[in-house]
Amino acid sequence: MQALTTSVPLVIGDQPGPSSTGATFDSIDPADGSHLATVAEATADDVARAVEAAAAAARVWQRMRPAQRTRLLFGYAALLEEHKVELAELQSRDMGKPIRESLGVDLPIMIETLEYFAGLVTKIEGRTTPAPGRFLNYTVREPIGVVGAITPWNFPAVQAIWKIAPALATGNAIVLKPAQLAPLVPVALGELALAAGLPPGLVNVLPGRGSVAGNALVRHPGVGKVTFTGSTEIGKQIGGLAADRLITASLELGGKSALVAFGDSSPKAVAAVVFQAMYSNQGQTCTAASRLLVERPIYDEVIELLRARVESARVGDPLDRETEIGPLISAEQRASVHSYVVSGAEQGATLVSGGDPAPDTDPGFYYRPTLFTDVTADMRIAREEIFGPVLSVLPFEGEEQAITLANDTVFGLAAGIFTRDVGRALRFAQTLDAGNVWINSWGVLNPASPYRGFGQSGYGSDLGQAAVESFTKEKSVWARLD
Ligand code: NAD
Repeated sequence: MQALTTSVPLVIGDQPGPSSTGATFDSIDPADGSHLATVAEATADDVARAVEAAAAAARVWQRMRPAQRTRLLFGYAALLEEHKVELAELQSRDMGKPIRESLGVDLPIMIETLEYFAGLVTKIEGRTTPAPGRFLNYTVREPIGVVGAITPWNFPAVQAIWKIAPALATGNAIVLKPAQLAPLVPVALGELALAAGLPPGLVNVLPGRGSVAGNALVRHPGVGKVTFTGSTEIGKQIGGLAADRLITASLELGGKSALVAFGDSSPKAVAAVVFQAMYSNQGQTCTAASRLLVERPIYDEVIELLRARVESARVGDPLDRETEIGPLISAEQRASVHSYVVSGAEQGATLVSGGDPAPDTDPGFYYRPTLFTDVTADMRIAREEIFGPVLSVLPFEGEEQAITLANDTVFGLAAGIFTRDVGRALRFAQTLDAGNVWINSWGVLNPASPYRGFGQSGYGSDLGQAAVESFTKEKSVWARLD
């Protein structure tokens, strides 16, 4: 895999290679700020070449028997399994996620997702409808053709496969534009698709700037569907462009998710889950439980347990298996996180742990896990997505206040509830305005289950059976029978 070397190509058609202008950009190791790789930077011409290669590959792919496509996708999954450790290390190096998460969480999710969709290929069916008179009416699910995918840097492996797997399983080819800040694993996945024997051009991977390659991809007339994961701001632009072209878009965007802990729940269990739900991946997770609402009777105990847990967190080299907190993705991200911490203190929240008086002195982009209490719903740290290791804890009294606070957000990606009262848990789950709700847990995922946001967290799901609808066109065929 060339993605494992210091010179990283574009993957277009059958030949990984340079961009049309020879332009490159640097990939930086966030653990120490050093140069990690020189990456080919895609231009609009490269996007056009990739769309052409994808359209040709889609035709080859669609002519294959479904069982043959299934076998090829399982072969691709097996190859990813074989390269799991290299891929996990590459990801941790490129974007700072602790290796225990890359290897223990991301790579298994990625491979299971591909396997789920490999199995789905042979199960895509149309319908017959109760047609009037002497007619037969049936529907067929046809591939869209070329899917344009744009992904963020926080889950490079998972996000790439969450686009590639459903697109391919439904008979399409894909052109993927990964985030510039973490392109190495997506490029490796493109190279491995070729090595697995998938038709050349079926998976094209084009690292580059969003405003250039990303924009060109969404605008290209050969792209029939866009699937985007990233910030709400860019998602709105992409949704607007797709609407203008009358193509479908699925948008998985930001969040400010609330985990609600009722007084009857175990403070220990709450603190343990919140630590993972908030600080894994340094808080750079769209479903981070960044607002913790705790009922008064257990408020002090939960905070004390959390404070102890946060202060004992092992911050360090992402490739060390003991590390729990690695660096943030970039110096800009660290500065942005720090500005939120400053605003929290200025607006009157209590800084219990973390913050960093001099974040710029470290050559790596580390930021200590941070805990604010006495947060009120109007503060910026309670309203905006920080995308860093900053938890805001708000007290509440009673179910009514809890639901008001939990739903007091423009986002609707995820929410959770901790209680031993089953009725309350289910009642609450119905009232929470979020696409993913977890009861007495957080962050559980399965490719068979849809994953989508409400409100400013976007629309459309790339997972589960919903993906079949999202990545195909349903055609209605009428036959006169006499
Ligand atoms: P981002 O929106 O800045 O970038 C996402 C992708 O869009 C990148 O590949 C980028 O290059 C591209 N892009 C930027 N400008 C573009 C343009 N004008 N046209 C086309 N493409 C463009 O997001 P990010 O900083 O990479 O990721 C963090 C964000 O992603 C957070 O808001 C996070 O919540 C969100 N996210 C959401 C989910 C989810 O499933 N809901 C998952 C992961 C991340």
